[in-house]
Amino acid sequence: IDDVLARCEAKADLNAIITPTAEIAREQAAASDAAIADGKARPLEGIPFTIKDNFCTMGVRTTAGSKILENFVPQYESTVTQRLWDAGAVMLGKVNMDEFGMGSSTTSSYFGATGNPTALDLGLSDIVPGGSSGGSAAAVAAGLGLASLGTDTGGSIRQPASFCGIYGMKPSYGLCSRWGIISYASSLDQAGVLARSPRDIATTLNVISGEDAKDSTSYTGAYPDLTANLGQDLKGKKIGIPKEFFHDKNTAHTQIVWDALQKKAAELQFEIVEVSLPNIAYALQAYYVIALSEASSNLARYDGVRYGHRAENVKSIDDLYEQTRSEGFGAEVKRRIMLGTYCLSAGHYDQYYQRACKIRRMITEDFNTALQSVDVLAWPTTPTSAFSAKAHSSDPVEMYLEDVFTVPVNLAGLPAMSVPLGQCEQGLPLGLTIAAGHLQDAEVIGVADGFF
Ligand code: GLN
Repeated sequence: IDDVLARCEAKADLNAIITPTAEIAREQAAASDAAIADGKARPLEGIPFTIKDNFCTMGVRTTAGSKILENFVPQYESTVTQRLWDAGAVMLGKVNMDEFGMGSSTTSSYFGATGNPTALDLGLSDIVPGGSSGGSAAAVAAGLGLASLGTDTGGSIRQPASFCGIYGMKPSYGLCSRWGIISYASSLDQAGVLARSPRDIATTLNVISGEDAKDSTSYTGAYPDLTANLGQDLKGKKIGIPKEFFHDKNTAHTQIVWDALQKKAAELQFEIVEVSLPNIAYALQAYYVIALSEASSNLARYDGVRYGHRAENVKSIDDLYEQTRSEGFGAEVKRRIMLGTYCLSAGHYDQYYQRACKIRRMITEDFNTALQSVDVLAWPTTPTSAFSAKAHSSDPVEMYLEDVFTVPVNLAGLPAMSVPLGQCEQGLPLGLTIAAGHLQDAEVIGVADGFF
C-alpha cells in the first residue's frame, strides 16, 4: 500500500485521483495485516481500489465532478463501497468523472480533465481517457490500484475501459445496489468494475452484488458465482454479431476489431453467427430522451438548501434556487436539465419520453430474440479509438454519437464487458463488447476470459 500510495503521488499530474485518501488507506491496510495475521483473510484483503466520485463515501468528500457538490461530505456510505471495505479492500482515493456522469471524455468535470496513461506512454498528449468513469480507467491503466468502481448509465465503464486498454464491466441492471450512488438516470444507472482481468472483475462483483433492502430495484433472486465460468474453452460457442453494427456503422477502427474477432474465432474455434437487432438504429435517440428526462428530475434536489454549494447575497428563495443552480452546474449539465425538462413537460411527454420508452421495449425484445440463437453477442465498444480532448468540444451531438455502441445494453438492462482487442494505427487500444441475456453475467465473464 505504501508503494501504491507513492505511485499515486508520483502520477498526480494525470488528475485521475481528485481526493486522495492515503490516511484511510493506511488504516485499512493495517486492519488487513491484522486479519491476515489472525488467519482470517477476507476475499479482497489489502487490495487497493479507487472509487468514482459519485459513490457516497462517509466522511470523504463526494463531488460527482461538480462544483455544486464541491464541498459535500456524505454522512453515509454507499452499499457497494461498504461491501468492498467489509471484504478487506483498501481505498486509495476518489477519482475524476464527467460532471454527474454526463459525458464520454471526462472533460466536463469541474476538477479539470484527466490524462489517458496509455496514450501518454505512446507519446500522445491531449488524448481523453473516455468517460464518464475516465478517472477510474486512467487509475487502473496507470497502476493506481488493482481495480476501480465505476458507474455505467450509457457506456461510462465500457468506453473508458476500451480507451485505456483495460477491462470494464457493467453488470445486469439490479445486480448491484444503487443506494448511495449519486443518481444520473435511475432506470439506466448501474455500478460496475474496471480492472486488468475478467477474474479481478468477477471477484469484485461477487463481493459487491446482491440484494439490498435500501434499493427496491436490486435483484432479490439467486445468481451464480461470477467466477464459475473463468477459464472456459470457447470451442463450439456461438457468438452473435449484430448485422446492423457490422454493415451500417462500420469505421476503419471497428473494422480492425471485427477482423481481430474473426481471427480469434479461427484460433479458438467458436462460431460467429450474424444476428439482427432491427430497432437498434433508434437506440441512441431513445437513450438520450430517457437519460436526460430522468436526469432533469434527479437533479432537481440540488437547490442550495440541502446539499453542497449555496449562492450568497440572494433576495428570495426563488433567487437562491436560481443563483445556486446557475453557479453550481456546468454547461453540459444545464443543457441536459433543460432538454430533459422539455421532454417531460405537458404536451411533449407523449411525443418524447413515452415514445422513447416504447422504443426501449422494442430494443429489449430485439435482444431477447437475437439471444435465443447464440450464447453471447459481440461488437466493437466504440466507433474509434480514444479521441483528442479538442474533438467534439463545439458540438454536443457529436459527443453523443460516440455512445452509439454502448447505450443499447443499458436500455435493455443487460450485462456487458469491454475487453481489449486490437489497436489503431497510432497504437491506441480498441475494445470488443461482449453482452449476454439478463443475469447471464457469469457467461459474459467466462467468454471474456476465454478470449485470452
Ligand atoms: N456518455 C453517456 C452520457 O453522457 C453515458 C454516460 C454514463 O454512462 N454515465 O450520457
